[in-house]
Amino acid sequence: MTQAWIEGRFDEESVVLTTIEQAINWARQSSIWPMTFGLACCAIEMMATGASRFDIDRFGAGAFRATPRQSDLMIVAGTVTYKMASRVQRLYHQMPDPKFVIAMGACTVGGGPYFKWGYHVVKGVDLVVPVDVYVPGCPPRPEALLEGLMRIQDKIRGQRMGRKKGTGTGFGTRGLKAEDELPLPHHSGYVQTTVDIEPLTDHQKITG
Ligand code: SF4
Repeated sequence: MTQAWIEGRFDEESVVLTTIEQAINWARQSSIWPMTFGLACCAIEMMATGASRFDIDRFGAGAFRATPRQSDLMIVAGTVTYKMASRVQRLYHQMPDPKFVIAMGACTVGGGPYFKWGYHVVKGVDLVVPVDVYVPGCPPRPEALLEGLMRIQDKIRGQRMGRKKGTGTGFGTRGLKAEDELPLPHHSGYVQTTVDIEPLTDHQKITG
């Protein structure tokens, strides 16, 4: 198989140096296993992301697992109703650590079209499970979900395994873990505003 990015670039017998941390993070970010479940229309876009046109397998994340115990990524795709919320939380707790959550679609991010009158809809899945990446849209395009997946990969790449300087002495002694480096999204469209804007959290208050 041709691997243009590496073929012919080294002598026949070569050694490549890296750190254990980088090698492990590289392996982990390239083998994310999402859980197979969808809650509403957004799940159709998620399925399209896995199909041949968008091909989530390019990112090593195409092995959708049928059980939370083998998954490390939960893509909450669709409307989360109050009835479903406890199931979503249970599935999350059944996933092994380290695990990640993508909130896909307006419904999941904050209630979406059901924000005002949907008495049965949770106003954001982050009230139920901790969310790592939000992918807005109704529904978001498969490209947007892939963008969210790349942000998860950024988080994995920024995870540190070494110990903090000055804690623990001697090789192999456990000290405090070094802080993770959470990268800023490099092309998220984030714009710095000139005025202070109060964050909007009121919509997440559960009423009734
Ligand atoms: S965000 Fe839109 S497309 Fe996605 S589940 Fe809600 S209504 Fe359906």
